[in-house]
Amino acid sequence: MAEIRVEQVQRVFGNTTALAEINLEVQDQEFVVLLGPSGCGKTTLLRIIAGLETATSGRVFIGGRDVTNLAPRQRQIAMVFQNYAIFPHLTVFDNVAFGLRMQRAPQQLINERVERAATLMHIEPYLKRYPSQLSGGQRQRVAVARALAVEPQVLLMDEPLSNLDALLRLEMRAELKTLLQGTKTTTIYVTHDQVEAMSLADRIAVMHGGHIVQYAPPVEVYEEP
Ligand code: ADP
Ligand code: ADP
Repeated sequence: MAEIRVEQVQRVFGNTTALAEINLEVQDQEFVVLLGPSGCGKTTLLRIIAGLETATSGRVFIGGRDVTNLAPRQRQIAMVFQNYAIFPHLTVFDNVAFGLRMQRAPQQLINERVERAATLMHIEPYLKRYPSQLSGGQRQRVAVARALAVEPQVLLMDEPLSNLDALLRLEMRAELKTLLQGTKTTTIYVTHDQVEAMSLADRIAVMHGGHIVQYAPPVEVYEEP
């Protein structure tokens, strides 16, 4: 069970209040999108949940455990970034295996997990190839497979489709939710794209100026007042 709870989280950078008393609850296996314009605090909030950024005040709980002072690797999370940093000199297999090797997992477990993640992301035919031999969409699926291979309880994604061309973006947007349904992960996904939020989210947290101004399923967020 990996529900996420953010309690009274604030983040101040000098004179800028990036986050003002944020409260957010995400249920186990829910897909929540943080939606809002550039500068509203989405990335800062995601990074605080990941443990890559510290909150000025407030607490973060994952699976009921207070992780506020824990390092990222102690939080059972995995991240996918905007510039999907997959390693060009490693094969797809070795890219997907990377996190498991960092954890010193035994080879048999690595093989099993890589196969499972590759199957989920439909990249099994490319395991022996290098990233340069793949399309942008395939590369992004490798990045997602690499995050999933460690079987994280929580998947954090920051604009993961923004570097893809329009067509691939459309394709991945349609696929991603279905692909993730084969996992038990709780997902928080950052975007400024309303259509992306609408097609992916169980619930959307609409952010503005460091606040969550609405938190509801897509149909309610887009309902006419
Ligand atoms: P978003 O992801 O919604 O674009 P960010 O979380 O990146 O928003 O930024 C929120 C606000 O905090 C912005 O005003 C941004 O300039 C500021 N900010 C973010 N990170 C830093 C930092 N390391 N130092 C100073 N200001 C920052
Ligand atoms: P985003 O794509 O989320 O809008 P940004 O381009 O705003 O991201 O920020 C990229 C990085 O720069 C982040 O790590 C953020 O913390 C940092 N950053 C953002 N705004 C500032 C700022 N005003 N001063 C220093 N660092 C910042």
